[in-house]
Amino acid sequence: MVANGTLVWYYHICKRQVWLMGHGIEPEHENPLMAEGRSITSLFFRRYEENKEINLDNRIKIDLMRGNVIVEVKKSSKFLKAAKMQLLFYLYYLKHEKGVEAKGVLSFPEERRRVEVVLDAESEREISSVIKAIENLINLPSPPPPVKVRYCRRCAYREMCWS
Ligand code: SF4
Repeated sequence: MVANGTLVWYYHICKRQVWLMGHGIEPEHENPLMAEGRSITSLFFRRYEENKEINLDNRIKIDLMRGNVIVEVKKSSKFLKAAKMQLLFYLYYLKHEKGVEAKGVLSFPEERRRVEVVLDAESEREISSVIKAIENLINLPSPPPPVKVRYCRRCAYREMCWS
């Protein structure tokens, strides 16, 4: 399995970006959305003493685990599908690689919103097919051509794609 949580997130935003990241091609500048997301996460965790991100095998980075519930903090729900699939990947990875059955919660503190994410038979099939699709995508000899999506204006690869 070459997929990781970050690639699963980007797979639902832009396939070209997955290929570029999967081939270790670094953008010139850091993605401002990711930096912003990190600062929201650290603000959220000031309320908790156990402010420690859990990094498992460089495949998943869990913001917070309480019992068997994984909490993933996001700045906004604008990319909800991507966030859900990323969390499903965490649950899938924990189950199949670590033998841990967990539930997930997406937390959007600025929107005072929480969304539960459950790995059931249907969602497991869905994330499993995404993992295979990411592997197939990265195995392509060249990246898919750029396609304008709403994320492009904030994307760290934008100069590479559009200049
Ligand atoms: S600039 Fe747009 S097309 Fe290029 S990698 Fe980023 S999101 Fe994808």
